[in-house]
Amino acid sequence: MVQLLSINSFAQDSYIVSVTDVKSRKVQIKAQLFPNNDTIQMSPFGANHLKDGWANFVTHIGAKNKLKQEISIQSIGGGAYVFSPYKKGEEIYLDYTINLIHDKGKWPFGYKEAAYVRENMMVLTGNAIFITRLDMNSATVNFILPKRYLITNAWKEVGINKFKVHNPTELVWTVMTIGEYNFTDIITGGTKIKLVYSNSLSRKKKMISSIITSAVKEYENIYMGKPVNSSTQSKKFVCVVNVDSGYVGGGAVFTNSISIMLNKSPSLEHKANTRSWHHILIHEIGHLWNGQSLKTEQQNEWFVEGFTDYMAYKVEYKLKLFDTTEWIAMLKLKQEEYNKAYKGISIKKAGNDKAGNYDLIYSGGLLFAQLIDRQIQINTENKKNINDFLQLLYSEFALSYKLYVLNDIIVAFKNTCLCETNNIFEYLVTSKKIELP
Ligand SMILES: [Zn+2]
Repeated sequence: MVQLLSINSFAQDSYIVSVTDVKSRKVQIKAQLFPNNDTIQMSPFGANHLKDGWANFVTHIGAKNKLKQEISIQSIGGGAYVFSPYKKGEEIYLDYTINLIHDKGKWPFGYKEAAYVRENMMVLTGNAIFITRLDMNSATVNFILPKRYLITNAWKEVGINKFKVHNPTELVWTVMTIGEYNFTDIITGGTKIKLVYSNSLSRKKKMISSIITSAVKEYENIYMGKPVNSSTQSKKFVCVVNVDSGYVGGGAVFTNSISIMLNKSPSLEHKANTRSWHHILIHEIGHLWNGQSLKTEQQNEWFVEGFTDYMAYKVEYKLKLFDTTEWIAMLKLKQEEYNKAYKGISIKKAGNDKAGNYDLIYSGGLLFAQLIDRQIQINTENKKNINDFLQLLYSEFALSYKLYVLNDIIVAFKNTCLCETNNIFEYLVTSKKIELP
């Protein structure tokens, strides 16, 4: 059979990422790209506080054409580059170095969402290292590393230290680790998580992995199913955990991967506290369902963050990480935090500025989740609760890779409590202040 496919149908971007020594903080990248115009770029998100965005950390960049002749490449700000001369349909060869010093500067959400070095371990997001193009639909990434080095990421493995991604988001919106470190596989129910941490946290391995295992079991019961990976990727999740006493503590969820930075090393602690290590872990693991599996096509931070936080506390309560008195005190504290932050806008609107309205989104969203939970319980005479509502959303949207909108949440609520919404959703569209009864 004659195949009449043009060369470009096979054109697949490829990257070779080399690290010879983690402590040198240098990542060498060679790329072969098939751009459709003269512009290539790093992720436009996450480094907006820097004039050149993620390109702030790129050095020694050079470009060559198909004939391996040098061509010019210019940074034009915001992480974008223009090269010339450009000939349509021709590949270009890029060569650059990432100076991995992201953790030496200030980041709005902490350097755990950029890149850092801990002991002999490099933690990096795709954002921090890849120059790509928005219309890329497939790329391979090959790592060249010393034999003793590990590489861990959430991509589909297609060879030794060789991976495949299917769009620019998979390439950049992810967290990975390179170097000498420790890991453990957590397999529970239908969920597979690779827990990765620096060697100094090894003594806490049991403590961390048993919390994650118990939480995953609880979440699988709540949603009646495992977290859904993006359809084109491998069936595993990666969770990176490290400690920095100079950071308040927190986590972030990327595609199939989580980056967590605790304020202090895990220890036995039974407390309902936003900053406690188990709350941070359980909250982020919860995002594998609400955030990773259940995805919205709108801005619904009140639901993504507020409901995840509420469910995390419910899971912790179930795991006896705190008692009823503390549950009540926690709700009271959340009401106070919300009251203090309240400025006459709805919790939905507050999500337009996530960094500026943290307490409105997290504490306000949590109070709203509690109202929803109560309402369902009252109307169904305790036959149903918030779990049934989340199950409905999960089975209708997450399992069929469909994005939800606000109205889908309202419908799922109505169908769970078999009631009218009793003006409860007014809190989202008007500036009405949430008060717990
Ligand atoms: Zn969150």
